Amino acid sequence: MSSLNNLPLLTRLIAATVQVSQKSARILREIKKSGELNVREKGVNDYVTKADFLSQLNIIKSLEKQFPKLRIYGEEGELKDNYTDLELSLNETVLKEAKNLPDIYQNLQEEDLLVWVDPLDGTKEYTMGYDVAQEVTVLIGVAYKGRPIAGVVNQPFYQFDKESDSYLSRVLWGIVGLGTFDLNNGKVNVEKSDENILRIVTTRSHMTDLVKKNLTQIPNSKMIHAGGAGYKALALVDGKADYYIYPKDGTKRWDTCGPEALIKALGGCMTDIFGNEYSYEKNAEILEENCNGIVFSLKEDNSEVIKYFTQDIKDQVLSEVNKLKQSKLNQ
Ligand SMILES: [Mg+2]
Repeated sequence: MSSLNNLPLLTRLIAATVQVSQKSARILREIKKSGELNVREKGVNDYVTKADFLSQLNIIKSLEKQFPKLRIYGEEGELKDNYTDLELSLNETVLKEAKNLPDIYQNLQEEDLLVWVDPLDGTKEYTMGYDVAQEVTVLIGVAYKGRPIAGVVNQPFYQFDKESDSYLSRVLWGIVGLGTFDLNNGKVNVEKSDENILRIVTTRSHMTDLVKKNLTQIPNSKMIHAGGAGYKALALVDGKADYYIYPKDGTKRWDTCGPEALIKALGGCMTDIFGNEYSYEKNAEILEENCNGIVFSLKEDNSEVIKYFTQDIKDQVLSEVNKLKQSKLNQ
């Protein structure tokens, strides 16, 4: 154990987070198989199930036990339930591959870091058939000084395994400056597409006329529709898309912290539609909604697409931000 404690905090944290995500993936598979999802509608087209809560309890309680001074925020808010089935192991592969971190991460302390958790991204798809279950992900991102520096994305229904009669996960993890890794296949190198066209992955179920207008007018581009923020970001990791764009509110920091870390670790970027990065700090002045939209790119700079956003979508975004700020003031 003493030699483990000599490893940098971030190395141990990501090795623990991978294990915790695997446990959540098992929880998601078991509950889906049981058919007892206890689906509730949180808002329009916004669902929550028993699996969202159990997955979050597992992630937060397990990480808190091992890293008591971390600040951790989950989509489902503060859960008071007692939860004792903790996952406290460290992933050996991650310990090896993340042993040598960039210098800036060598001496991080728990209190410097903030963790954003989406215990089940794509809940709507989770409640549907297994044909769309691959769009479900567990998203965990680590921020330092307001910026995502590491993340884990687990896809619990990646592949069906006949032998065990069960779905198997795919796990991607990344540390900015080190790279993005597939837990089973090592470091990810995104293959460049030889198509001379920008492939843009975007929403399937939250399309509006204005979003559609803004995306279709980007020259030499084509749209791919998919569910789940984590899954759409994975389309970039897999080299199936060049951009993931949703130019309006709809996602929140826990949807993007982990994915943004993976994309940045691949040399890409994520900004709002004005070209500004979001802060992942948590305080009263910062909204946790990604109100100004999201533009993920495999390139370090996404200006080749954001220059095409129209004034009417920018105006709409800004008016939504004002409405949201006002409603929070009135709370
Ligand atoms: Mg969720």
